[in-house]
Amino acid sequence: MKDIRSLTFEELKAEVSALNMPAFRAKQIYGWLHKTPVFSFDEMTNISKADRQRLGEVFSLDPMTIADVQISQIDGTRKYLYALADGNMIESVWMEYKHGNSVCISTQVGCRMGCTFCASTIDGLARNLTAGEMLAQVYAMARETGKKVSNIVTMGSGEPMDNYDNVCKFIRMVSDENGMNLSQRNITVSTCGIVPNIKRFADEGFGVTLAISLHASNDVIRRRTMPIANAFSIDQIMEACRYFFDKTGRRLTFEYALIKGVNDSAETAKELAGLLHGLNCHVNLIPVNPIKERDYVQTERAHVFEFQKLLEKYGINATIRREMGRDIDGACGQLRKHHLDEAKNKQ
Ligand code: SAH
Repeated sequence: MKDIRSLTFEELKAEVSALNMPAFRAKQIYGWLHKTPVFSFDEMTNISKADRQRLGEVFSLDPMTIADVQISQIDGTRKYLYALADGNMIESVWMEYKHGNSVCISTQVGCRMGCTFCASTIDGLARNLTAGEMLAQVYAMARETGKKVSNIVTMGSGEPMDNYDNVCKFIRMVSDENGMNLSQRNITVSTCGIVPNIKRFADEGFGVTLAISLHASNDVIRRRTMPIANAFSIDQIMEACRYFFDKTGRRLTFEYALIKGVNDSAETAKELAGLLHGLNCHVNLIPVNPIKERDYVQTERAHVFEFQKLLEKYGINATIRREMGRDIDGACGQLRKHHLDEAKNKQ
């Protein structure tokens, strides 16, 4: 069955007409899917029972079943584990900031990029998520909290540039005025640096923020933690970033997880600053979140501040990311990993 949430307004209009339903139905249905989102056809109360039944025969609509949720007592951060229609599990996170509510969504079930510090990639890639499944995470969290979503980041599991078409479709749909109508400026797409797709992405005409997971100041350090560094050099990434900025005028973000003894020396800070010099960007520093499968250790707080100060001394704007939900299951991907391991142990 076709996933109805993944249909654009134009695609839905064509499907509705093929089912011999009146044309105005398409707008009503699209509204129920994307403006005041529901999770079953029966909730579409202004659609006749016969038409709801017909829709249910032809299309699927994932109810986004919550398999687990953890709520931080410190800052209200919520980590959701959703069970998808095919039984796969994905993680999404809800975060509340002064400037609004931010959701972090997954773009794939698992990941095949193999970054050594990341829990999402340990069991490899299961499959891509559809645009509808990315939208459903946003809608489901808004439904649960009863609050408005003001920002979206693709920092859950998966590599957005490895699921390129669906991620682009998601961006178009979530910013569509017939749907949620979220400004593209409030969307951040985070990538480990798949260079050809960054360039393609620059040409899409989006107004989103691009975040590059750099985590190193040179290729030797980067190859130690990120296998993608064997495919693309930092020089190639920088060239793609400059192209992205020229095309979009959007300031770039560089993510940098500080790992003790790996990428946190004073020389590294200097080298990083040299690399980013002249580019309109800022660096987001985060002490690496240790996962039990690796023995990486966080750079100490005081040293994180020093690293930040050094970058600023060399003229690079750097912030330290506030760690949200410190009291709930740590790093990204760990909630799902935990459930996968439990399921394996039961077999
Ligand atoms: N594939 C995308 C999205 C990944 S998750 C990307 O690579 O950008 C979002 C961010 O969290 C990335 O910067 C990723 O490198 C980082 N990350 C993953 N595991 C981490 C950990 N254990 N500690 C700190 N940051 C981590």
